[in-house]
Amino acid sequence: MFTIGVDIDEVLLSLVPEMLKWHNVNFGTQLVAEDFSNYCFWEAWGGTREEAIQKYFDFVFSDWSENLEPISYSQEVLQRLKDGGHEFFIITSRQNEIMEVTRKRIARHFPGIFTEIYNINHYSLTGHSRSKADVCLELNIDIMIDDNASYLYECIDKTPSLQTPVLFGFYPWNTNKDSRMVRAFGWLHLEQIIARV
Ligand SMILES: [Mg+2]
Repeated sequence: MFTIGVDIDEVLLSLVPEMLKWHNVNFGTQLVAEDFSNYCFWEAWGGTREEAIQKYFDFVFSDWSENLEPISYSQEVLQRLKDGGHEFFIITSRQNEIMEVTRKRIARHFPGIFTEIYNINHYSLTGHSRSKADVCLELNIDIMIDDNASYLYECIDKTPSLQTPVLFGFYPWNTNKDSRMVRAFGWLHLEQIIARV
């Protein structure tokens, strides 16, 4: 049985499509997901990094983010894997300011799945940030699932327990190939990968 770390955005919940709709309606833009080629929102939105973070908070606290859909098959597959005895932790880059609302959304869509939710407060306006690798190390994570390769690189370098870094999905910001990680094209594929580890 494995200890498995799971990212939230674009792994459990589909953030970018809804956030782009919100941005296009509220700011008159015509952005598409391909504009987020490196997941740095401020580059697609213009303005400063701080303004982009504040904008992102505005979105998360808006009614729009109530519509974030779980990624296809995430709920079913996680329940099956959990029933099979694996232990799951959320390891997200989300910021301290939005963790209360984040916890509510996770509880609503993924009740009883996660032992604990850890946020590293990356790209924050306040407070201390830590790395996902530190959390993986602390929890002795065997499998880490993230759509952002840069977090996986850190974990590969610093987490001896990590057997299988999984790059999740095929998004404009993660088209790179790397032999040190396994690509899961979706949750059903991920279920097969975990069965083979
Ligand atoms: Mg993500």
